[in-house]
Amino acid sequence: MRMPSGNWPRIIAFALGDNVATLEATQRQAFRRQLLRWFDRYARDLPWRHTSDPYSIWVSEIMLQQTQVVTVERYYHRFLDRFPDVQSLASASEEDVLLLWEGLGYYRRARSMHRAAKQIVELFDGRFPNKFSDVRSLPGIGKYTAGAILSIALDQRHPILEANTIRLFSRLLGYRGDPLDREGQQLLWQFADQILPRKKVGRFNQALMEVGSLVCLPHDPQCHACPVRGTCKAFESGLQATIPSHKKKISYESLHEAAVIVRRGNKVLLRRCRSDERWAGLWDFPRFEITSKGAANRQSELRRKTEELTGIDISLAQNITTIKHGVTRYRITLECYAARYVAHKHRQRRSTQKWVSWSALSDYPLSVTGRKISRLKGPIFATQQPKS
Ligand code: SF4
Repeated sequence: MRMPSGNWPRIIAFALGDNVATLEATQRQAFRRQLLRWFDRYARDLPWRHTSDPYSIWVSEIMLQQTQVVTVERYYHRFLDRFPDVQSLASASEEDVLLLWEGLGYYRRARSMHRAAKQIVELFDGRFPNKFSDVRSLPGIGKYTAGAILSIALDQRHPILEANTIRLFSRLLGYRGDPLDREGQQLLWQFADQILPRKKVGRFNQALMEVGSLVCLPHDPQCHACPVRGTCKAFESGLQATIPSHKKKISYESLHEAAVIVRRGNKVLLRRCRSDERWAGLWDFPRFEITSKGAANRQSELRRKTEELTGIDISLAQNITTIKHGVTRYRITLECYAARYVAHKHRQRRSTQKWVSWSALSDYPLSVTGRKISRLKGPIFATQQPKS
């Protein structure tokens, strides 16, 4: 498909086929003015909006990926208090970084930030780079994040496109194609670039995201309160409910897993997840998929798989609770078992594991479900007294 070039009217003409829009440069200016005026009045007072430090804005941008603002607000200051600059982050252990990240999920973000901080120290003398290509070369930083950091921190002219602006732009343009496919992405990035002002780029980008997040809501857009409804094609044609169209629906997969809390005296067994495992870098109770039916088969499966994973033989395991949770496209039913240590059958070379007292569990970064289990001391220690 041929892509348009030139100004906004030509892009809109491309998006709408015969329904040619006639927005002129003056109307684009009015759009920017209305948006920025609205932002001055209604923008949320968020902590990362009080700084122009690229490092702090980087931290906020990475935390905000896949995580709601209200959650990030709880983590942002804590993280910056502990790691106030690139150097402190680079010199921390991965375990310390993950511990502070615990509960935010998508731990790959934290591991990438940690690696990126080391890279900044090595290649850029510890100063956050100010060239787009340098920022883009860092682990975990894509086109959107690089543009957001540099526009917000340094007011450099870079467009942004993320979930909120994808929805907003699709509706403004009345774009009925899939905004996530190659053509949709090309069109929306080009649009994002065309509407950027020369000055106040950071504020403008934040204003776009804020309108997308507070007004142009996914299921119930608040068009009556929208500062840009005068230039919205979806509003004009009553298509807000059907735009954007996502052709690819996420298909969820059910998984049945077990976590085994193995006791030895007053300690429990933790293992550090390998880089090829779901909770890479975090500590966890032995955990694996289960498929057996019937109580006797389940017991022998738990025993066999615990030994395969840890080299440790366990006694009869007792079900203490079941947790249902979701991770990316997986819907997981996690059966949690308390068991006791019987013997060390063989050494596990590929994994790091430790016996940890219950009170020391708070020193280890755990997954959300691992942390939930760590609050079940009563039921776990009420099970049969272990042999030590
Ligand atoms: Fe979104 Fe409605 Fe505003 Fe259009 S008018 S951008 S659909 S909130």
